[in-house]
Amino acid sequence: MSDCVYLDHNATTTVRPVAIDAVRDALMLTGNPSSVHSHGRLARRIIEDARDDIGHLVGANPNDILFTGCGTEANNLALRGAPVDNYYVSATEHHAVLMANEKSQSIAVDNDGLVDLEALDRLLSAASGRSLVSIMLANNETGVILPISDVVRIAKEHGALVHCDAVQGAGKMAIDMATLGLDLMSLSAHKLGGPQGVGALIAKAGLDIAPILRGGGQERRMRAGTENVAGIAGFGAAAREATNGLDQMAQLSTWRDQLIANIRRLAPVRVFGEASERLANTVCISMPGVSAETQLMAFDLAGISVSAGSACSSGKVEASHVLAAMGVDVEEALSAVRVSFGWNSEAEDGQKFVDAWAKIYAKTGAMPAQAMAS
Ligand code: PLP
Repeated sequence: MSDCVYLDHNATTTVRPVAIDAVRDALMLTGNPSSVHSHGRLARRIIEDARDDIGHLVGANPNDILFTGCGTEANNLALRGAPVDNYYVSATEHHAVLMANEKSQSIAVDNDGLVDLEALDRLLSAASGRSLVSIMLANNETGVILPISDVVRIAKEHGALVHCDAVQGAGKMAIDMATLGLDLMSLSAHKLGGPQGVGALIAKAGLDIAPILRGGGQERRMRAGTENVAGIAGFGAAAREATNGLDQMAQLSTWRDQLIANIRRLAPVRVFGEASERLANTVCISMPGVSAETQLMAFDLAGISVSAGSACSSGKVEASHVLAAMGVDVEEALSAVRVSFGWNSEAEDGQKFVDAWAKIYAKTGAMPAQAMAS
């Protein structure tokens, strides 16, 4: 795999060496964190240290953190367990939010992927009972950063709770849960350099979340089951390193913008959500007239791993609900590929992608000869 280029860090990013060490060290120990003896107390210590590191990354009170089995579970816990009557979710949320509660209602987004704040205000004005608004920090497909502080302001005017799916944004951009006034936030370890299969729901003190898993009294009685101590140790170590690496992640916009500029020399491409502030590591870009399915196979043959957004879990690429909500027509949406850099990406990765892009585009016969020569 050494010659291969991995540009799919939004799907999952490379586990950081410090997280691997933390997982291994924790696995070498014996002890259930609920046991009161010294072995149990050591396991408990590992969990509490990780809570501190994760709280520090996102400006949350460590005591408010509930460990879960993944980001999907955290979103389900928020969307099913929060003590509210109505649920409003933006149209471009991840399926882990969209599918979590059949009662949830959609809030439209504009062509730039930003949530329609007037629509949100209207929905909350018309609601009876208590509401929860769920808005992601940054979109996994386009990287578009959502206007969370405006959403919180409007929600609070209506006494609504706000949940933020920060799975993609955390570790890639600074965020402070307390300053923003969020009530709930979801995180996932494997998106920021920790292991897969561990996540967290941060639920502000005083909010009673009805558990989905029932059994023991772990995690403030809101998430039964012995905690994944090793996974949590890796999550904490990754969060610590991600906190120190936020500036480095912000620098990735240089490579992202270079990649876009180089492709624009070859063809009139569309960058989805381009007018909005976006994650520095992410670009979702069309290849005129070439389906994402064809591109993915060709990029794979060229040793480059990218993705077609989130809608290819069954192996078949379908038009993305995110791009559809942004008003993109189906044909253009089906030509969209997502490139996402990560903490360990290298300077030449973007150019290797562009070189492969040029070859794939040329093979379709769509590229003008003049552009090919340059
Ligand atoms: N939310 C967003 C925005 C995501 O991008 C993802 C994963 O792609 C999830 C939630 C689900 O996280 P997990 O893979 O930990 O279940």
